[in-house]
Formats: sequence, structure tokens, C-alpha cells
Amino acid sequence: MIISIASGKGGTGKTTIAVNFALSLCESYPVQFLDCDVEEPNAHFFLKPNISFHTDIGIPVPEVDERECTYCGKCAEVCAYNAIAVIKQNVLIFPELCHGCGGCALLCPEKAIIEKNRIIGIREFGMADSIQFVHGKLNIGEPMPTPLIREVKKCINPTRIVIIDAPPGTSCPMIESIKESNFCILVTEPTPFGLNDLKLAVGVVRKLRIPFGVIINRADIGDKRVEEYCIEEKIPILMSIPMDKEIAIAYSKGVPFIFEKFEWKEKFIELYKNIEILI
Ligand code: SF4
Ligand code: SF4
Repeated sequence: MIISIASGKGGTGKTTIAVNFALSLCESYPVQFLDCDVEEPNAHFFLKPNISFHTDIGIPVPEVDERECTYCGKCAEVCAYNAIAVIKQNVLIFPELCHGCGGCALLCPEKAIIEKNRIIGIREFGMADSIQFVHGKLNIGEPMPTPLIREVKKCINPTRIVIIDAPPGTSCPMIESIKESNFCILVTEPTPFGLNDLKLAVGVVRKLRIPFGVIINRADIGDKRVEEYCIEEKIPILMSIPMDKEIAIAYSKGVPFIFEKFEWKEKFIELYKNIEILI
């Protein structure tokens, strides 16, 4: 089963919940954890995996052999991302815009385009006790996380419960991370911003037809509008976690809070059982 954990905005405690969920389940079930927040991966600070190997991840970007090129402009026409421009007797390539789709090389009538691998980041694989751990680290300044997210997701192990920590927000990286999930947990907080971003995230998961529920983190800091919205929309509230000084201290020390507040382990196992019923 693939369970993704997402939130419409950053700072809701999504990774904390993903990590504690994985650690709670791993004694009873085989678990794999994928950190798809490749622009800012931080689950490894809590899970502390032993990284056993890493792979450079690149995308194929075009290079033009000008001796073969007739400057017909077909490559620029086919590129949906404006990563190639043909101006008079010049072919300009903008590698940062290229998505590596291969369309230009395929359609070049002169076969004048070859593809070169451009490294955009790394994928690391390791074990955190019994948890299989995979994450991606996008190179600084690299604008396109989705190809790296796809590479991280290629490691999905269907024999385990797969927990995906998705990037915050509701744009392409979040969608790439959660699509194909059997269930999505949306983490939010009871504030006007939390509610606004939750509504956006709900729109995305509904469009993708992924069953989902909500966890309200720091549930006692704001008002009741998130709860009211969930009731109105018939969205299951899977769990409410209060603002708790001990949880905050554990977080600041890089310690998953189930190791200090043992009662939460059972609650996360219960959460998994409830998800099984919902899908
Ligand atoms: S499609 Fe091929 S031949 Fe035409 S401009 Fe592009 S690289 Fe040159
Ligand atoms: S590989 Fe795709 S995205 Fe990149 S330049 Fe060619 S057509 Fe554009």
C-alpha cells in the first residue's frame, strides 16, 4: 500500500507525522519511506538511515551537431518548454528549461540532435533499522524537481507499506509525488492559512481520485473552521495532534516524538488500521 503525506503549505509538521507514522508501523509491518521533498529533504535527520549507495540522476538534454543542422526550426516548434530557439543560423539551447522529453531529437529530420546527460541531483538508498529509506537531493539552483521525484519513486517496493513524504504545496512536485498513491493524508493546522491551503490540496487529491483524510496538527492553536470545513465536505479527520511542548522539544532535538510520548505509537498504528478501512 502506498500512503502519501502531503500538505497545501510548508511548516504544518508533515515530515514529523510521516516519520513518526513510519516508525510506529515498522515493528509490526515491513515499511519503506520515500522522501520526495527533494528540494529540502529532511526526514533523514530523524530516521538517521545508513546510506548504502547513491546514484547520480540526470536528464537527457539536447546538443546540436551544427554540421548536420539545416536550421529548419522543427525542434523549437516541438518543444513545449521553450528550451530551444532557432534564430537564423543559430540553435540556442536553454538546458535549465529542458524537461528531457526527447521530443526534439526524435523529430529532428536531419538527426542532428544528440542527447547529453545533465546531472540534476542524487538519489540515496539506505536502511533506518528495518525501514527501507530512499530520498532525492536536488542540486542547489536546479529548477526542476519532478524528474528526480520520478527517480525516487522508481524505488517503490510493493512488498512494503510505502510512506511518501511529499513536497509542500499543490504544484507539479506534489502531484508527481502523490499520484498512484492508495491513500493521501493531508496535514493541516487550524488557521486561516491552513484552511485556505487545505482547500487547494483537497481540490488536487479529488481531481486525482485519491482517497484521503486530514490530520490537524497543533489542533488547539486556532479556530474550529478546519474542522467545520471537513465535516461539511465529509472529509474524515484521521487524527488531531495538540500543540505540545514535549513534541516541540523532541523535534528541536531531531528525536521522533513517539520515542518520548509512547502513547502516540498506538495511535499511529490505529491510524493505519483506519486507513485500511477507508480504501
Ligand atoms: S530540427 Fe534538427 S535540423 Fe532542424 S533546426 Fe533543429 S536541430 Fe537543426
Ligand atoms: S528534450 Fe524536450 S524539453 Fe528538452 S529541448 Fe528537447 S523538446 Fe524541449
